[in-house]
Parts: sequence; C-alpha cells; structure tokens
Amino acid sequence: MIRNIIKYGGSNLKTPEGTKNLIRIVSSFPDPVIIVVSALSGVTDMLDETVKIPADRDILMPRLDSLRDLYNRHMEQIIPDPLQCRLIAQKMDVRFEELKHLLLSAYHPGLSPDGLYDKILSYGEKLSSLLISEMLASRNIPCREALPEDIGLYTTGVSGYASVDFQTASPNVSKALSEPLHYVIPGFYGIDSNRQIILFGRGGTDYSAAAIARCVGAKSLHIWKDVSGLMTADPRIVPGAASIPRLTYDETAELAYFGARILHPRTVEPLVRKGIRVFIYNSSDENGLLDPVTVISAHKRPNGKVFESVTFSDHFAILNLTGAGIGIKPGILARITTALNNSGINISSVITSHISINLLLELKDIDRAEKTCRTLDLPFVSEIKTMRNISVLALVGQGMVVRHGIASKVFGVLAERGINVYMSSMGASEVTTYLVIDRSRRLEAVEAIHGEFFRAKD
Ligand code: ASP
Ligand code: MG
Repeated sequence: MIRNIIKYGGSNLKTPEGTKNLIRIVSSFPDPVIIVVSALSGVTDMLDETVKIPADRDILMPRLDSLRDLYNRHMEQIIPDPLQCRLIAQKMDVRFEELKHLLLSAYHPGLSPDGLYDKILSYGEKLSSLLISEMLASRNIPCREALPEDIGLYTTGVSGYASVDFQTASPNVSKALSEPLHYVIPGFYGIDSNRQIILFGRGGTDYSAAAIARCVGAKSLHIWKDVSGLMTADPRIVPGAASIPRLTYDETAELAYFGARILHPRTVEPLVRKGIRVFIYNSSDENGLLDPVTVISAHKRPNGKVFESVTFSDHFAILNLTGAGIGIKPGILARITTALNNSGINISSVITSHISINLLLELKDIDRAEKTCRTLDLPFVSEIKTMRNISVLALVGQGMVVRHGIASKVFGVLAERGINVYMSSMGASEVTTYLVIDRSRRLEAVEAIHGEFFRAKD
C-alpha cells in the first residue's frame, strides 16, 4: 500500500534544478510514493491563451515550437546522457504531435469536439508527468507514469469545478497503482462518466493530489511550494509575517477560501474523513528542502494564539436591498435566495437589518444576481444596489471562539485608521471572523491587524 503522496507544482518546476530536486525528495522516502505533478511554470497560461486566440497555423506553429524548446532546454539539464535524452525527446514528440492536432482542431469551431479546451489544457500536466517519470527512470528509480484517464479517476460536476467521485474512483485508482514502484500522475484533471477529460480548475493539482491520497488511503500528503508554507499574513504585504507550524483542516480550508493563495481552496476536502495529514515544504529553501514548515491535521493543541492568520480576498461583492421593514417581512429573503439558487449563484453570507438585506456574493456573480433580483418585483424593496469595490478580510484560527474581546480590539484597530467596516461576521464559523471593508484600504488593514495581534510578544 502506498503511504505517501507527493505534490510537486509548477512553481517547483521553474528551473531544471527545481525539477532535479524531486530526485532527492523521492529518494528520501523509504517506500514507493505517488508523485502528482503540474505543468512547468507558465505553460497552462500559455495553452489557455493559445486556445482562446483564434489564430491560424502561422501563429500556432511558432508557439508550439517555443513550448517544445522550453521542454528541450529543461530536458538537457535534467537528463545528462545525450542518447537517453534523444530517446525521451522522441517520446515527448508523440505528445507534442497530439497537442498540435488538438490545437489545430480548435480552429474549426463547428467541427471541434466537446471538451476540447479541457483536453488541450491537460497537456501541460501530461508533458510534465512524462518528463519527470523519464527523469526518475534515468536515475534507476523504478517508476511509471499513470494518466488519470487510464487509472479511472472519475469525477462529477462541470469543467473547472469537477470533483472526484470517490465511490467509483477509489477502487479503480488503488487497483491501478498497486505495483511496488513509484507512480507519476499529471494533476489538474480527471475524467467524466464518458471518459472525457475534465479540469478541476486553476491550481487544481493540489486537489488532484489530495483526491488521489484519499483514493489509495495514503497516510500523508507532502506538498512543495516556493514559499514558507502557510503564513500569519502574506509576506509581500507584511514583511514580518511568520510561518504557521500547525493548522487544522478547518483553519486551512477557511484560509485557502479567503485568499491565502498558496493552496487550492478544496485541497483539504478529500483528506478530512480519513485524517490524512498534510506536510508543506518550501522548495526555495535548498537546505530545508526535506523539513516541513506547516503541518495540517484534524486537531492541534491549543497554543494560546487568538488567531493564526489574517488574509483577504477581492473576489466578493455585496448586493444590498433596502426598503422600510424588509428585514423583518417574512418571505422576502426566501424568494431572493430561491431565485439566486435557481440561477446557480452561491450566497456566501447574509446580514439583514430592519431596513436592509445584504448578501455577500462572489464578484463574478454580482451582475447576474442584481438582474435576478430586479426581475423579482419584490414588495417593500425600494432600492437595489451593489458594492463592488470591497475586500473581505478574514481572521482565521481556532482561538477565535474561546477568547473574549477580540471583536472590540479588531474594530478598534481599524477605527483608529478610519477604516470603515461595512459588514462583519463573528461566530458564523468556529474558526473565522470576516470583515468587509473598502478594497483600497485592505493592505493597510491587514498590516494593522497583524501588527496588533502578532507583535513581538508572539
Ligand atoms: N497547471 C495548472 C494551473 O496552472 C494546475 C496547477 O498548477 O495546479 O492552474
Ligand atoms: Mg500551475
């Protein structure tokens, strides 16, 4: 049985040295591992751009050539033997040809098959998995590439938001990966019930690795990033931010959801039920390559901290409906939420008062949500407004529920700087408090809150 899963992403594959570090990492495990990899840095963006620009052969071919060059340059550095290098280049060429075919068919819209976009984007990961499995094999490390379409990584849901269907996938995947050798799997996608390729969404390799960990009943998931794990704040905003040594699944999920751009927001979802622990490492720390910086599990000992991290997201907006007494009129909120639900719009939070209803929604849905509400002809509603220039600050940590006086301290810090809080939730989740503020003040707010709670005493 495979006990450990490694996730090695695009940020780790920026340079040939980064890719070669994987040899050291894999060799440090006593048993066979599964390595889930992303596309080389920048390749997914490039493929996405190439499919979207309607172009002809003349534009496409140079782009494909530069992609091939990128891989060739990488390959020459990681495979020292020229003969081996040539043999691997031939195998890579087969994949480049498949990709060329798909890209060419994308220029015949009427004739292009469904799911072509997903198929094309999966090639970033498929080129990596082939290259990396060959690199390991060239060092006499027994390993095999395994593609999601061949191991039955079945999913449900739509493109960009697909989820692994564990009931079907788990038995297939664990059976397919049962030999005593290392496996290299491309992340970012699975297959639908028609065996067509379907994407998990940008940054989805974290989720792939977590899902595969659950399918095979792994003990731990080891993720390399090019930063120092999850941190008390984004170090680009707060230079004094520190790594967080231990987090729970709930804390991690909230942090990822509210914008800590390190992990895919759904990474912990597959891990919770089986208590699979996550170790996060910093690949840019050459000496600490094998020392985890953040460990994530179901529980942790209380550490006296009020919260672990302050983060923000710009991906939200508020829909505000006003009218005398609407907050207490029965039925209005139900009509709104039903209509939004029927339009596939997710509501992140609701706060009502006597005269208004405020819905916190994702920014991408706000136009549709406004239109939907306007067509409802709601009684007592005199005005419908939107607020788009907002950010949601999130304070995440398990200390939040057990400590008193945090709200007043946080509001105090913001008030001192004249930062207005439009909406807030305390206690809606056991581990998160969020505050909605002006987007233009968000960096200042993060710095001020971090300064107040993580001063030298911590
Ligand atoms: N290559 C994909 C992306 O850039 C998936 C990943 O990196 O996790 O979004
Ligand atoms: Mg990537």
